[in-house]
Amino acid sequence: MEAYVNEECIYCGLCADLCPEVFQLGDERAFVAVKEIPEDMWDCCREASEECPTEAIEIIE
Ligand code: SF4
Repeated sequence: MEAYVNEECIYCGLCADLCPEVFQLGDERAFVAVKEIPEDMWDCCREASEECPTEAIEIIE
């Protein structure tokens, strides 16, 4: 699984709270800190994508 944060991010910080090993906050938006997401982080990654208020997180399974 890979994930990306697109330009719709409003920098709310929710994804970094839900899944801090994967999502971190950059200068203007969140970014994905790992290229290939380890399997034990898939659930929190999906949750972050579902909960993101602007649907800015794209997941490639
Ligand atoms: S939850 Fe969505 S809007 Fe909020 S920081 Fe993460 S990617 Fe950006």
